[in-house]
Order: sequence, then C-alpha cells, then structure tokens
Amino acid sequence: MRPIQATIHLDALRHNLAVAKHRAPNSKVMAVVKANAYGHGLLRAAEGLSQADGFAVLELNEAISLREAGYLQTILLLEGLFDRTELVDAAKYDISIVVHCEQQIEMLEQVNLSTSTHVFLKMNTGMNRLGFIPETYASALTRLEKIKSVADITMMTHFATADEDAGIVAPLARFKEVTKGFDYPTSLANSAALLRYPASHSDWVRPGILMYGASPVSGQSAHALGLQPAMTFTSELIAVQVLQDGESVGYGQKFTAHKTTRVGVVACGYADGYPRHTPSGTAIAVDGQLTRTLGRVSMDMLFADITDIPDAAIGSQVELWGAQVPVDVIAEASGTVGYELLCAVAPRVPFKVIG
Ligand SMILES: *Cc1c(COP(=O)(O)O)cnc(C)c1O
Repeated sequence: MRPIQATIHLDALRHNLAVAKHRAPNSKVMAVVKANAYGHGLLRAAEGLSQADGFAVLELNEAISLREAGYLQTILLLEGLFDRTELVDAAKYDISIVVHCEQQIEMLEQVNLSTSTHVFLKMNTGMNRLGFIPETYASALTRLEKIKSVADITMMTHFATADEDAGIVAPLARFKEVTKGFDYPTSLANSAALLRYPASHSDWVRPGILMYGASPVSGQSAHALGLQPAMTFTSELIAVQVLQDGESVGYGQKFTAHKTTRVGVVACGYADGYPRHTPSGTAIAVDGQLTRTLGRVSMDMLFADITDIPDAAIGSQVELWGAQVPVDVIAEASGTVGYELLCAVAPRVPFKVIG
C-alpha cells in the first residue's frame, strides 16, 4: 500500500479544547466541526471534542449524524436552513439553527410546528456575508419573539477582522449597542477572537481552527499559543536520487544542484492535498530531521533534500506537516492558511486515529 497517511490525535483535540475552556472559562464552547471537521473527519473529531458544550456544522445531515452518534449537546447549523423541508428534521433532532435573513424568518412563520426550535439570530457587523444589518436586527428579533415554535433565541455575530490589526472593537461596540435591552444569551467569538479579545467571550465561543491545533493569527504560531496539531500528515521515501553539480530535479527543473545532492522522493503530491504552489526550500522532516523540499511538487510525489541525513533511504519516514513541521508553515509558504490545507487532504489519503 502507498505509505501516505493522515493521523488524527484525539489527545491533541482534547488538549486544544481544554485550552479554549481555559482561555474562555466563563463561556460554553461550541466546537466548529464544519467541512468534515476541517478535514479531520466529523465523527473522528467529535470523539476527541466530545466534552465540548456544543458543535457547529453547515449541513443538516452532518448535524443528524452527530445526533445519531449519540451526542446530546447543542448542535448549530451555521447557515441555518436552506429550505423549509429541513425544519421538520431540525426540530425532530433538536438542532439549533442560525437565522440570518428574512426568508428564514418567513420559513419559521409559515411552518406550523408543534415542536420547538432554537434560534441563533445573526447580526452583520461588517463582514457583509450573512446576517441582519444593525438597523434591521431589532425588528427581526421582535418578529422571532412572536413565533410560537421558537423556543429560545441567542444573539450572534461573526467578526471579519478578529485575526487582524483592525480587531473587533468597532463591530463589538455596534453589536452591544444594538442588543442592549434584549435579555438573550450571545455568541460572538471565533478562534482568533477567543484568543485575542476576552471582551468577546460572552455565553458561547465558537472556535474552529484552534481545536485542530493550527493558528488563527498570522505571525503567532500554534505552538506559542499552547496548541497541539491534531493532524500529522506523513509518508515515506520511495526512491533516492543523487544529483551532481548542475543537475536538476522534477518538472520544470526548478531546483538545480550546485554540489552533490541526495534527493529523497516522497510519496505525496498535490493530488494528496499537498499544495503545488509550495516553493522549493519549504520545511519537511525526514526521519525526524528537519530539511527542505526541492523543486516542484508533482501530482503524486515531491522531493526532499536528504544530503545531510545520510541514513535516509527508501522507507524513511517523512512528516509533511504535524508537530515538527507546523501546517501553518506550509500554508504560509504556499500563500494560504492552515485552514485550507487541512480541509484539502484528499479522499485517497487513508486516515488513522490514535489517542
Ligand atoms: C467557521 C466559523 C467559525 C470558526 O472560525 P475559526 O476561525 O476556525 O475559529 C466560527 N463562527 C462562524 C460563524 C464560522 O463560520
């Protein structure tokens, strides 16, 4: 079998959840497990995060599979319902729903449910993606209050710049101003806000990326934040080449040796989810030693410099990302964020769970 593998560490998930609870001790933690738990596998990740106070997903079928797996805590649909037929199952499985637009309020008004629905009413505080603008928020809330099947309401928003210099001061002030006088619980903070802005914690925090041990804030490493990577992406060397001065390796000859250079051929390529844009010279570990990639990433293979790792040979262990090579380092080198790489590990990669 091809030696590539993604290993999910349940103990790292548990550790990162504990970090979130420690940093936001007075809030309930809604672990965001959308996008197949950021590529880790929904039920796999839920097992490691089983002590979370809630889970957040996008699709009703994800919410139902969590319920059917036995999770009893709050489960929130972050984009709410996509059509009214979903309302019946949402109620049946006791799934909480975001309401972000008028059409979703109408759905609730029109369907006469005997069961109760838990609503998170979303305010648009500057992201301009989902939610009611501050000017219409109070009237949306008043409308929801009149719907018999709405059992409870939580007021929420999502910050556009919690991870950047602009921060959350202005949107948080706006949220507070609009919601003043309404006595409902609130939910505001994603990972970056949770870590950077205690003022945003409130009743529920909604961390995603930090659960998986990657950093939500560029320039601050996950390690420095006390997080542990939940995924280790590994493979092995399947060939070794020796380049002489002037010889190149891989498509486009993007790396040319200026001295005798040993090259390990790694069984991992962009079809496995390793980004093709990663330049020659990016960090990679072979047999536990940090080294660099060489040349262009191809579909099924990439290259590691093993000149200074004389014992490296066919079968040597390679860490593409994990504890030794933070996923954020690979992301930065390829012009993206850890989120995207974790989500993009290809279906052909076998997963294993430990811890
Ligand atoms: C994805 C998402 C989160 C989690 O964001 P992270 O940056 O991964 O912590 C929180 N809230 C909402 C509404 C989201 O869509």
